[in-house]
Amino acid sequence: MSAKATLPLPVLDALPLGARRLVALTDKALFANTGVRIAFTGRDGGVSTGQYSSLNCASHVGDDIGAVTRNRRIVCEAAGVPDAQLVAPSQVHGTELIWATEEGNPEADGVLVGVSGVAALLNSADCLLFVIVSPTGKFAVVHAGWRGAIAHIALKAARELVRGDDALPPECNAYIGPHIRSECFEVGPDVESRFKDEFGDVAVSAPRHVSLAAAVSADLVTAGLLPERIADAHICTKCNPDRYFSYRATSGNCGRHSAFAVAF
Ligand SMILES: [Zn+2]
Repeated sequence: MSAKATLPLPVLDALPLGARRLVALTDKALFANTGVRIAFTGRDGGVSTGQYSSLNCASHVGDDIGAVTRNRRIVCEAAGVPDAQLVAPSQVHGTELIWATEEGNPEADGVLVGVSGVAALLNSADCLLFVIVSPTGKFAVVHAGWRGAIAHIALKAARELVRGDDALPPECNAYIGPHIRSECFEVGPDVESRFKDEFGDVAVSAPRHVSLAAAVSADLVTAGLLPERIADAHICTKCNPDRYFSYRATSGNCGRHSAFAVAF
């Protein structure tokens, strides 16, 4: 892990990674400055078939486990860490965060890493995945559906990442991956009112439509991150089921794409 750097302002570009040229959303300048590689994967580039085609990274959705293991390794290879220890937790729509030091599949919806060579991978099909990176090279990879969002997992993760760290929240970058955008995210009146209670009108874009990105961003700003240091891919998974897995577009018959990060 490198010494503390000043992070470039965050960007998310679709770039081919590694020898396999796996296309993922990443921040090249972040990697150059800090040695932290982030990647939001899509559907292309894996070995799974049918509804899981092809880069399904989740082991709980009925796909062949051998294919899932291979797909996760493909992501590691593309990121340049073929032998990385990989932490891919069982996600439970809670707010549990873990600091990972070795390979495993604990129950958690956020993984924080403060050592080189340990990679974190979380899965989603419509839920919001985000990554926070500290200028010291520590990072968090987090899953937030509506339950995690209203339980403030983003605020919790941002505070935990800088706890005891030689970095301040305004120095950190955050990256919001593809997820179901508010225009496509219709919810019941109970969920709508809970978003309004927790985040105000900013997180309710229209009646019965809530914004996971606005909720997570609000939490990150509350934690002290600067709005200009929050990059949003602005991609809707439900509108792009050919490029990303979408639970709602497929009535739940789909795989999961991933958010991945590792420090060199
Ligand atoms: Zn959409």
